[in-house]
Amino acid sequence: MKCTSCGGENKDSAKACKKCGFDFTAPVAWFPDAKWHLKTLGIIYAAVIVFYYGVSAILSKMPRPYELRHIPIEMTPWLAKGGKVHLPEDQLKAPAREPDDPPAPAAK
Ligand SMILES: [Zn+2]
Repeated sequence: MKCTSCGGENKDSAKACKKCGFDFTAPVAWFPDAKWHLKTLGIIYAAVIVFYYGVSAILSKMPRPYELRHIPIEMTPWLAKGGKVHLPEDQLKAPAREPDDPPAPAAK
């Protein structure tokens, strides 16, 4: 086993580190209790929620199509049900354009 104080290698049955004398039998100074877990998980969940709504707010201000919450299946055909990689031509369509959208790029 590795000494947590100096990193020296000791027998698993050792009661103290042979290098630095660190006492392996001493009780752990701190152990996470239920309150610590609740607090930590609360902080993590709060951070996730803030991140989600922050990203949603940023996305809602982006130009089309980046503001879309539901990505059109044309953009992710590999996620189509049945494992179809390519949709038939008649199912390939872009989302409807809105009046304030910038003009579509000219087809080449
Ligand atoms: Zn040690």
